[in-house]
Amino acid sequence: MADWYCYRDKVKMLETEVKLSYMQLSQRIPGLRCPVCGECYLTEEIVMNVVKEAEAVIYGK
Ligand SMILES: [Zn+2]
Repeated sequence: MADWYCYRDKVKMLETEVKLSYMQLSQRIPGLRCPVCGECYLTEEIVMNVVKEAEAVIYGK
């Protein structure tokens, strides 16, 4: 995973697990958290995968 930096604190983000709710599904996915302000980030790639999976379950694709 590439290094990400908090836009506020300019510190390196730590890898963490983020609880994401999308439609009726909630799941834990790998994300990034700022150790200073606690802001959680998800990369676009991860979000796209989660959305795709959730839609597959809901719509039976
Ligand atoms: Zn921060």
